[in-house]
Amino acid sequence: MRYESTRGGLKGISAAEAIKTGIAPDGGLFVPMDKVTVDIDFIKGLTGNTYQERAMKILSLFLTDYKPEELLDCINSAYDEQFSNKDVAPVVRVHEKLHMLELWHGPTCAFKDMALQILPHFLVKAIQKTGEQDEIVILVATSGDTGKAALEGFADVDGTRIIVYYPNGGVSDIQKLQMVTQKGKNTNVIAVNGNFDDTQNGVKKIFTDASIRKALQQKGLKFSSANSINWGRLVPQIVYYFSAYAELIKEGSIQPGEKINFVVPTGNFGNILAAWYAKDMGLPVNRLICASNSNNVLTDFIIGGVYDKKRDFYKTISPSMDILISSNLERLLYELSGKNADMVHNWMKELAKKGSYHVDNKTRALIQEVFWGGYSDDKETLASIHSVYEDCGYVMDPHTAVAMDVYDKYVIKTGDLSQTVIVSTASPFKFNASVAKALLDGKAGGKTEFELLPMLSEYTGWNIPEALKGLERKDIVHRTVCEKDGMTEALVKLLKLDAIE
Ligand SMILES: *Cc1c(COP(=O)(O)O)cnc(C)c1O
Repeated sequence: MRYESTRGGLKGISAAEAIKTGIAPDGGLFVPMDKVTVDIDFIKGLTGNTYQERAMKILSLFLTDYKPEELLDCINSAYDEQFSNKDVAPVVRVHEKLHMLELWHGPTCAFKDMALQILPHFLVKAIQKTGEQDEIVILVATSGDTGKAALEGFADVDGTRIIVYYPNGGVSDIQKLQMVTQKGKNTNVIAVNGNFDDTQNGVKKIFTDASIRKALQQKGLKFSSANSINWGRLVPQIVYYFSAYAELIKEGSIQPGEKINFVVPTGNFGNILAAWYAKDMGLPVNRLICASNSNNVLTDFIIGGVYDKKRDFYKTISPSMDILISSNLERLLYELSGKNADMVHNWMKELAKKGSYHVDNKTRALIQEVFWGGYSDDKETLASIHSVYEDCGYVMDPHTAVAMDVYDKYVIKTGDLSQTVIVSTASPFKFNASVAKALLDGKAGGKTEFELLPMLSEYTGWNIPEALKGLERKDIVHRTVCEKDGMTEALVKLLKLDAIE
């Protein structure tokens, strides 16, 4: 399989090159050049497999330049006992027609582990395969979830170092402690006195600073990125859609070939795009339901064909979906426009220049054929957590609850009662302040997130994930703080780079 840029500037590179490079030099994203298809026998065959075996079958269709033993090594290093559930991504039935695909049994209790546990291994092998000698330095700006997942993924992976910047005071207590207690000789965490935008801009500045690049080169170091536009983060996410389908066949909820819906709580459009690739390959999917919070730019886009980021930005109780530019949408537009790189390039130019773009009617119709968009505000999200617990005994985190609320709206609007899988993206214990607010009727007020963990556990009978237990008693190993204008300086000091101007 060869890869090309969505903006037409580069074609024919290997998966290893695409993963090593991350973003294409023309600003586009890498996509596979050929369509991959599987038949129903392939899908039926997955029912007898473990998650790791399913991953092997699907990843080898896309990462054709990786040898089978290399892929196996990546898979076994990623999906190991760090996942607290042996099925890795179990499917839990909520009621007769509705199932939860739980993607949060990894070390950070949120779905980004599904990709960030394996990406470092893809990357290290990509470096070796492309003859690179340098050590890789991963820089991450995080608003909470990505930073910890990347730290866990890269910790003690040979040939890499990871540096995570987070906004001081801008992440939850649990998220902060998860990061500053991170072990691993190659890990670094820096608090920035600024907000998330300052932090992200600072990292972008470092990435594009020629003098820093030169200083790195002299030390045998090279930057790379672990953000969600890397193909190496997207491709592992295709696996769990097939895995969920195979589980439903196995438990007798569906017949092989029966079309099902997936509801995906969406921010950067990575997770739901992986679902689209699964459908494009031949997975029997009826609708992909794109669930947003009050930052509902995607809902409007799916309905009207206009992507307009010029709107108020809301801080919500599902913070990992507080996004106004869904970068991975570019890949869908490329595929649905018949791989029309010029058209995609123009839309992206308009987005950068005017803050909006308008797709043609044909592309809009193709989007609506597959996708249904809806959103849930904070009040509705909390109500959904409450009612689903009361009715079904299932405890949802706020991101998952956004999906549930949008699913309810979908059923009311369409009457479609196909078997449906809700993609559950975080443990309720990770975002417990909101969950406790929804379930504990005022008894949560004034409590810290750590005091709420046992309260929630006692109330629901659900176990606190090992990864969050005793977090407040773990040693703090990262204490570096810098000003928002001092992010470069902090990096120079950390990597002991020679003086730069
Ligand atoms: C990142 C994240 C999302 C959004 O996923 P995208 O791939 O960005 O659409 C949803 N829920 C949680 C808990 C997340 O961490």
